Order: sequence, then structure tokens, then C-alpha cells
Amino acid sequence: MAYTLAGRAENPTQATVLRLLRDEGPLSRVQLADRLGVSRTTMASEVNRLTELGLAEGAGPAASRGGRRSTLVDLSRELRFVGIDIGATSMSVAVTDGRLSVLGERRHVALDVRLGPEHVLGLALEVTRKLLAEHRIERPSGVGVGVPGPVDFHSGVPVSPPIMPGWDGYPVRDAVARELGCPVLLDNDVNIMALGERHSGVARSVPSFLFVKIGTGIGCGIVIGGELYRGVDGCAGDIGHIRVEEFGPTCACGNSGCLEAYFGGAALARDAMAAVRGGRSPALVALHDQKGELSAEDVATAATQGDAYAVQMVRDGGHRVGWVLASLVSFFNPGLIVIGGRVARLGHTLLAEIRGVVYRRSLPLATGNLPVVLSEMGDDAGVVGGAALISEAVYAAG
Ligand SMILES: [Zn+2]
Repeated sequence: MAYTLAGRAENPTQATVLRLLRDEGPLSRVQLADRLGVSRTTMASEVNRLTELGLAEGAGPAASRGGRRSTLVDLSRELRFVGIDIGATSMSVAVTDGRLSVLGERRHVALDVRLGPEHVLGLALEVTRKLLAEHRIERPSGVGVGVPGPVDFHSGVPVSPPIMPGWDGYPVRDAVARELGCPVLLDNDVNIMALGERHSGVARSVPSFLFVKIGTGIGCGIVIGGELYRGVDGCAGDIGHIRVEEFGPTCACGNSGCLEAYFGGAALARDAMAAVRGGRSPALVALHDQKGELSAEDVATAATQGDAYAVQMVRDGGHRVGWVLASLVSFFNPGLIVIGGRVARLGHTLLAEIRGVVYRRSLPLATGNLPVVLSEMGDDAGVVGGAALISEAVYAAG
């Protein structure tokens, strides 16, 4: 980590207490002692130490269960995390409390990640500083940042990201830490969204699941036993570049026939333009006449209007995604698949197609109890996940 964690948990007991308070809310000292299987005396001294470190505080008397009343313990009100979710075409920033609840409004601004790290991080810092000032926060407890490309988690830099020219090897984590004067962690945007779903979304009670983001690119966050699996080099889950056709369209990564080259946001925009030129979709032609250009969201609009060609585009894409997911299900046997990202707003037509293929093509034992659902968090998944990422480090034993 680029920045020393000032008030960090000192031992595994303290770390477990902080995570329990984050995930479950205030607990009494007695409950904490019981949950961790330690004596009440030990718990009392650990809680006192957490209070001295500025990480926990008393929260009034607990409901009496007979005998001596116990005191509730909560996370310190001083704890404030920031989640920054940088996408290919927009960015979300939010401030959370120690339990990762978003405070006030999440900020969402349009940007072009291809303009490079100085420009994009400059904008991210400007938005973050404004938000911190509004909440009267001098220095946040930590910041979690997500970017739309592969990341070397241990050094905090993007590595050869196909849609982020100029970002390869740029010290994003250290640059943000230096500017904001607090601990910062950097990860792939899909991984932080998976963490967000794990903390506050549909995956809350599911220890092992897959989160599939379908946005400008396509990626998959892998959570096993409550922990993110990043792979040896940090590129686990990069399913957008699994080849689905031998001689398919060229992909941003340089190969051809990748899943993303068929069904990422850019691929959908390309196919929508081709449909307009071929006069195949009246709804897309009308949208193009209005706006002069088309995006994946226009395909969603046209499909919602019942345009047959747009509906077929969504079905074809869902079919290919389902095909890849069916293999992953047989391999990984997850307890849940969550579909998120902007293209996921194509909604139930997309979901029905993906489900159909996954249930048909995976082994019955693996799908007998496998919900495939749409994310309900929208743009909150990334910012909450960014806060979750850095909270894991702040709540870890130093
Ligand atoms: Zn590719």
C-alpha cells in the first residue's frame, strides 16, 4: 500500500470485530465475545483498543438479556470511505460511512477513458474533493478505485488495458494516494462491482458466485468463499476475450472473434449502425435520424419498442454470453450468477436468453439450484465495491 494505514486493526480479533460491525451493524460486547469465542474480558480490552485507534465507538446500552447490561459497539462515525468507479465512458464517485452506506448522492459524470490518466484522474480528483468538502471530510479513511481494464493489484497499476490507451503501467493507486493523503487500492472495475454485490446486492448471502459485467467491455468477477479470486496475474475472469467464433470481427485486444467483439457496447453500436445502413430496423433508423449516432442504449430502446431486429440483436448477444457462461458453470459450479453493467439494462429479453442457454447447456447438477439474475444495484455496485475493497484493508490486521 502506498500510504501507511494510521489507525488499522492490530490483530485478527480486532479485524474480525470491525468486519462484523461493517456487515451486521452495531453488536453488544457480549455478542461480539460469543461470536468470536473469546472471553468478555478479552473482548472488552480489544474494543477499548479499537476505540483508542478511532475505529470503533460505544453506541449506547444493548437490550438487556438479564444480568448485567452490555454496551453496543459500532464503527466510528469518523470512518469515511470513497469509491471511484471509472468506466470507459463515465465515472461514478461516492462517499460512504464505515458500513459502506452511500452518504448523500452518488456523482455520475461522463468522460472518455481514452483521454489518458492525467486527464481522467484529474477529473476524478476534482469530483472527489468537491464531494469530500460537501461532507466536511478533511481526509477520507481510504479510497477504492476501479478501472475498466486488467490491473496488477499488488503494484496498483493497469496492465496493457485494451480500451485505455496511455494507462499501461501508470501508477494510478500511488498518484491518488499522494493527492488525497490516504490509503488507496486499485482494482478492475468488474472486481469492485462483484464486491459491491457481495456487500449490498443480490449476492449478499451467497459466498461463491460469478458477477458478469456487460458494458463497453465484458468481464466476470469471481467470488469464492466470500473472497475475490484475481488469478496469479490479476486477469482472472477476463471472459470478454474468450473466442466464440474462429473468424469473427476484430476485437480491441487485437484478436478476432472474441465475445466482446460481438456483444460489448462498441460492438452493439457498430451493429446498430450497420442495421441503419441496411434499412433493417425502423426504430434504429428513427433514433439515428434524431441523434446522428447510435449506442448500445439505443439498441435497448429499440428492443423495448418491440423492434424485431433490435430484439434479435439482444437475443444473439445473450445467446453468445450464455454459451460462455454455460462452460463457466460446468467448470466453477457457482451458487449464483449476477448480470450487471449498462448493457445489462437490455433487461429481461437478455436475461431470458442467457438463462435458456445456461440451463440447456450446463450439467443438470450444476444448474439445479443456480439462480441467474440481473443486478439491482445499477451504478452503485462499483462505488460501494470500491469502498468495500479499501475497507477490507483498513479493517485488516496490520
Ligand atoms: Zn478480444
